[in-house]
Amino acid sequence: MQSQLKITLLDTLLNSANDDIFIKQVHALSKTYGPTSIQQTFEMLAGIILPLDTCASHWENLIKYRAQMMEKLDRPIGLTTALCDYLQNETNYLKTPRIVETAEYENTLEKSHYDKLTGLFNRCYFDEAYNQQVALAKRYKEDFTVLFFDIDNFKRVNDTHGHKAGDKVLQNIANVILSEKRDSDIAARFGGEEFILLLTHSDNVSSYFFAERLRQKIADLEFTFLGKPCRVTISGGIASYPFNSENPQDLVEMADSAMYLAKGAGKNRISHYKKEKRRYLRVKIDEQIRTKELNFSDGPTLDATSKDICVGGILFENDSSLPLGSLISVQIQLASGKKPVILIGYVVRVELLESGRYDIGMTTSFKELDEIVNKEIASIILAQK
Ligand code: GH3
Ligand code: MG
Ligand code: MG
Repeated sequence: MQSQLKITLLDTLLNSANDDIFIKQVHALSKTYGPTSIQQTFEMLAGIILPLDTCASHWENLIKYRAQMMEKLDRPIGLTTALCDYLQNETNYLKTPRIVETAEYENTLEKSHYDKLTGLFNRCYFDEAYNQQVALAKRYKEDFTVLFFDIDNFKRVNDTHGHKAGDKVLQNIANVILSEKRDSDIAARFGGEEFILLLTHSDNVSSYFFAERLRQKIADLEFTFLGKPCRVTISGGIASYPFNSENPQDLVEMADSAMYLAKGAGKNRISHYKKEKRRYLRVKIDEQIRTKELNFSDGPTLDATSKDICVGGILFENDSSLPLGSLISVQIQLASGKKPVILIGYVVRVELLESGRYDIGMTTSFKELDEIVNKEIASIILAQK
């Protein structure tokens, strides 16, 4: 009955040729449905629910008020204008009226979802849409993947060709994403030159192929700025639900850290999320170090770059491999002006990186013993120099 009345009222409002006809229709309806019809008319027009026992008298007052306004201003006054004025000036129901065009409101709402430069979703909307998609994927037990990517050396693009050129690159990359992604995928600009995609119904394998295709299409883009050619590449990381984690909040971080793996491995590539193999708290360091294989006839001294160090050992990157299990010494300058620290230990991990370099992990076994041996060997090595 209530909803039927609402429909009839809406119908009446939309189809009445003018406000006077509408007022007559409401009056007629109130004879059939009683004051509820007037209460609902107020709700429909002003969004407020008046007490049922006062509706009829407010309606009468409103009609009179409108007639007075027309007389004073000597021009036709719409029912909603009069209603707004009446509720604000003659009652307490409308203290601070705000008139907002529904279309404008929707337009503003929609704009607030998008990134202005690229037309992709913004990060704020991504978070909202992500949560909804995750709930669906969980309910229907479906895979999905987060792809996070960052433009390589983008600062160089801005420095060489200018900020406007950089903007153009961002827009073109966004266009590639929009043309490559499926309708159900959600793509957003996450920050400056970072993008994020939620690939629905996609496991880590199919997502990898998609991400690779996207990477290739972006690498194929050719730009010319003031006659100078320009190309860009991206590094991306992927993490999948439920393969990498069943906690969707972790996946964005995992995809981000996988992206850093791709950067570390030489950029212009996509990496899967990999769990750190570290068991100790490690401190990141980026120092030139010298390594030497210790055997009967000492091997050559190699220059390498340390990556991190912990109580149990050190991880460094080297151009050449070292035999697993071999005893080596690593000389590292931890504080400038002080003597370099020398660690002696065994090679426990050798991993060929995509960049053609090797990740080498060295561990020292007995800390106290190592300290004594380290000092001994350090003094011998230093004395030799
Ligand atoms: P990496 O390969 O390690 O990611 O290096 P990078 O140079 O891309 O990274 P870095 O974070 O040093 O630089 C990112 C640059 O992106 C710096 C900033 O000026 C630029 N940038 C961020 N937002 C915009 C934008 O809206 N327009 C333009 N033109 N540049 C932007
Ligand atoms: Mg960045
Ligand atoms: Mg970058």
